[in-house]
Amino acid sequence: MRCSTRRPSSGQAVVFLLAALVILLAAFLWNVDLHTLVTRKIKAQNAGDAAALAAARWQANTLNLIGQLNIAHVAAREAHDDNAVAAITSMQARISFAGPLTALAAAQAAAKKNGIEANPEFTALLRRHAQDVFEFTSPANGRELREPYPNAWTEYHDALINIANDGVAAGPDNARFYADPCGDHILLTKAFYEAVAGREWCWFFLNHSSGGTRTILDDFTDHTFFGPLPDPSDEEVLENPEIFSVGIEAREMPLRANAPLAEYLRENFGATTNSLDAHDIWFFYDQSVWRSPWPGMTLGMDDSLPLAGSVRDEYDYAGADAVTRLYAPASLLSFSSSTNGATRQIVWTAAARPFGYIIADGSRLRPNSFGLVLPSYRDIRLIPLDAASYGNDSSFDIDWRQHCDSHLPDYLDNGALASGCRYCVLLGRFEDSTFRRQGSEWLSTNSYKCTLPSYGHGQGGGTRRGH
Ligand SMILES: [Zn+2]
Repeated sequence: MRCSTRRPSSGQAVVFLLAALVILLAAFLWNVDLHTLVTRKIKAQNAGDAAALAAARWQANTLNLIGQLNIAHVAAREAHDDNAVAAITSMQARISFAGPLTALAAAQAAAKKNGIEANPEFTALLRRHAQDVFEFTSPANGRELREPYPNAWTEYHDALINIANDGVAAGPDNARFYADPCGDHILLTKAFYEAVAGREWCWFFLNHSSGGTRTILDDFTDHTFFGPLPDPSDEEVLENPEIFSVGIEAREMPLRANAPLAEYLRENFGATTNSLDAHDIWFFYDQSVWRSPWPGMTLGMDDSLPLAGSVRDEYDYAGADAVTRLYAPASLLSFSSSTNGATRQIVWTAAARPFGYIIADGSRLRPNSFGLVLPSYRDIRLIPLDAASYGNDSSFDIDWRQHCDSHLPDYLDNGALASGCRYCVLLGRFEDSTFRRQGSEWLSTNSYKCTLPSYGHGQGGGTRRGH
């Protein structure tokens, strides 16, 4: 017997057609939306990259200028010109602030030229921050911060306000704000929240163990367990601006104290005892910022970036770099989720840095080889975010900043968690004893599976991030 298919009744056909239409319509809308989304994403990427490059270019300009002035200082000392020395030193102190601020302004211009509009939240954040700077540096705060040059704090505050008035499109994401807590605290570590979100129990075992397989998952009691947030930095003089700093320090010392440097200056710039013995202020690299090797780019480590070859020795250092973040509106039709629940946004973070070297005896050396800042920067390149001085700062990640600045102090005082904040939700999950028990039980039998990340410092044990 032949099998016959029954013809569908006309009612079923209508239902089928309707369903097909709905699917087609959805596909059409989704495609249109996808196209807009992709276009916007490319636009945001270009703008973000351009902003980071513009900022890094000004960091290079700043360092080269300060370096050239160090050389001019040597020449002025050789000529016994005290006035010139004084003028040079004062100019260097100003440039170490003015240069990075120009970088901030240049980043805005680059982002806007690439079609990104000023972000009202960024703008408000910078304006509010300018006010914080004003309060932090005011003598009334009891810290007695010495100004790096006369009237520095007022000028710095005014420059931030001027940039805010023009509107901030690209947030300086690796800024280190003076008034921010200075030091480690688990709740200021993004990796903590990511570990809770992803149930990465090993993270707790590797970073917050209290002997055996015991970790803070077992030790936690209530919000008081975490301890207060650290105090802000109490350095007497803040020689670098918070945003796009180039990491230098003014040091009063005779250059002769540094034998290889004295030799280099003698050979290349005709330095004699006149300049080498002078007790003057010179501009050096802050070696806590400028160090080797370049974190995140070291090969042969479990956690290093996948590179085709090793970083050239003359470039293998950490130093000044610029990280910018921007948000661009995505279409409301897109199916992506959003952290703040309002308009869905495309986020793009980019990093760039100046590259340079000095030549001594025919070979290329790292720019900070002699400690003294010398004109060395020749190129600007985009770099991977994980190899940037990004750490846990995320200073222009609006949700994160809000969490750190206003939610955490509340939580640590009275255990209150802000609703709607992703980080507060994750903190709430950590407080849940069932959640923690799950981790403790897993670790009690599986902790041997957790291998120590070979390179963790500077990243706070954080997870690898792309853009
Ligand atoms: Zn929060």
